[in-house]
Formats: sequence, C-alpha cells, structure tokens
Amino acid sequence: RVWNFSAGPGALPQPVLEQVRDELLNWHGAGMGIMEMSHRGKEFMSVLEQTEADLRALMGIPANYKVLFLQGGATQQFAEIPLNLLAGRSADHLVTGSWSKKAYKEAQRVASQAGGSARLAGSSEAGGFVGLPAAGTLDFDPKAAYFHLCTNETIHGVEVFDDALIDAVPAGVPVVADMSSHILSRPMDVSRYGLIYAGAQKNIGPSGITLVIVRDDLLGHAPATLPTVMDYKVMADNDSMLNTPPTFAIYIAGLVFQWLKGLGGLAAMEARNAEKAGLLYDFIDASGGFYRNPVEKSARSRMNVPFVLTDAALDADFLAGAKAAGLSGLKGHKSVGGMRASLYNATPVEGVKALIDYMRDFQARRG
Ligand code: PLP
Repeated sequence: RVWNFSAGPGALPQPVLEQVRDELLNWHGAGMGIMEMSHRGKEFMSVLEQTEADLRALMGIPANYKVLFLQGGATQQFAEIPLNLLAGRSADHLVTGSWSKKAYKEAQRVASQAGGSARLAGSSEAGGFVGLPAAGTLDFDPKAAYFHLCTNETIHGVEVFDDALIDAVPAGVPVVADMSSHILSRPMDVSRYGLIYAGAQKNIGPSGITLVIVRDDLLGHAPATLPTVMDYKVMADNDSMLNTPPTFAIYIAGLVFQWLKGLGGLAAMEARNAEKAGLLYDFIDASGGFYRNPVEKSARSRMNVPFVLTDAALDADFLAGAKAAGLSGLKGHKSVGGMRASLYNATPVEGVKALIDYMRDFQARRG
C-alpha cells in the first residue's frame, strides 16, 4: 500500500482494514457478513450500541446530548441545521474558508423554510482565508438561534485552536461546529457546543455516515413540513434507525473507535498529530521559500497542510515523482492550487517522514 494523503475520503487505519477483510464473509461466526444482516437484528444492534458507547467514551459526550448516525454528508447538514434549529430566528455565521462559506450560503438558501434567516458575523475572505478573525472583531447577534463555524477548513488548512472565539459567543447562543475534517484528532469539550457535525470520510470511517452530536434542548423545533428523515428529533427518538442506516459504514466506524481507544484515546492522538504536523510545517518553513504554507502559524491545521512550490512550473513533476515514490493524494484542491497533505489519524508519523524525505530530495534535485 502507498502513503495516502488524500483530503477525503482519506486513509483508514491498516489494522481496521485487515479486520474488515477478515470478517467480511463471516462476522463473528454468523456465517455471513455484517452488511448482509438485518439492521434490526441483535447482531447489528449490538454493533450500533457499542459504536455509540465507544464514541461517547472517546469524546466524553455528556448524557444530555444525542448521537445521531445520519446520511447525506456534511453538505446535507448545511441545510438540516437551519431547518431544525432556526425556528423563526436568525443564525450567525463565521466564514473562514470554502466549507463555512458553503454552509452560510446554504443556510441563506433554506432559512425562510424555517421562518428564519442567516447573517454574517465575521469573515476572513478578504485576507484570502489564511487566518481567523480576532474574536473582538466579530459582530454577534445576541439573540441568534445559533452561531455556526467550521473548526477545521479542509481546503484552506485553517484550524480553530483558540478558545477565545468560542468564549466570545454571547451567552445562550449555541455554537454549531462543522468538525468534519478534524473530529477525533484531539480532545474537544463537547459541552461548549450545541451541535457538532462531521462527514465520516476523514477520521471516522468510510463515507456514507454523517455524525451529528446535538444537545437535547435543540431538538423538536423543526417546522411541521420538514421531511421526516431530516428531523433530528424523529431520528433521535428512533436511535438513528427510522430507516435503514448505513450499516457497513457504522460497523467500520466502530472498529475505528476501538482502534483509537487502543492507542490511548484522543489525548494520545493529539500528541501524535501535533508531532506529524510539526515535522511537516517545520520542514516547509525551513525550505528557504522553495515550499510555502500561507496560513498564520496560530491557525495552521494539523490535519490538512496546503503548500505551494514557489515555482508552480514544477508542480506536475513534483506530483509525478511523489506518485512514483508511493505518496498519493497530494494534489491541492482546484480552488487554491498547489499541494495539500492531509495527515488524518490513520496516517502514522512514518508516512509524514516519507513525504518529507521526498520533498527534501525533490528540492535538492530541482531547487
Ligand atoms: N465540511 C468540511 C469541513 C469538509 O471537509 C467537507 C468535505 O468533505 C464537507 C463539509 C462536505 O462533506 P460531505 O462531502 O460529507 O458532504
């Protein structure tokens, strides 16, 4: 196998894939694979319960939060969140990159269906999405239904580490966070958020599941016309089993959670992720400008490291050489160009060292 730096779907832990392979045809002696079984049978129900219990333990999810395993991706949540939470009010949005901008646009599009609206509380777009606005510059609506932000911008490589941003949100306004690309990468205080959501295909498992962690008091405010499968309260009342859930993806997510627990949980992952990202950023910064990352140091993502070669004419050769060296998924998003190395939980430090060795060698040959 190659080292996989794809932004999403991204690398999955090798031991998890090996276990999936071993259990594919015959799960725990059942004579069939888990994806062939009824979602209401005791086998799958036990998988679902264990998966939720392990996630609750890993993230320290308080009892007054529901965990929902939904479908439709984080993109569908861009609409479901306003539809479920607005209840005739206005939502505040912080725009710090492509994903939070998309969430804001979708909220504006659908808000009227929940009798509400969406407004901008702050944006770093004018500066090119290379940092976060200072908390003091945000224009909050103290009566907002919620405040939405993306705590890791996958394309621009901007991560929120600064609690001051969350601290600045007016009391009583729930914080809604898109954590798609850094959930489970480090401990997070769930109680600081009203709702956390994440597409699965980075740190959770295969695409097909969307995780929503939502505080109880935010349930039950959807308009009566909202499609049933989009209503968080209905999904919570049915333990995410109103209809057939993505059983195979949930099973794999459960194995990923067990793998994380076995490695020491999220504090251990944080140490590992900080080491990986530190090695790569330090190398980029010491390359004398041959490679560059434009993001302010305090907001540099540990999960997604975009970088450019100062001489963009070398991009194609860089990528071809990387592929030949067994390094995959490094092409940057088309909207920003250059390269991007995604260093999700499943990527070990050896993978990052292999990337740095290649980058050093390429610079020596072409710099
Ligand atoms: N939010 C963030 C931060 C993302 O990185 C992505 C991309 O994968 C999305 C939302 C959209 O997720 P999905 O493709 O699951 O709809």
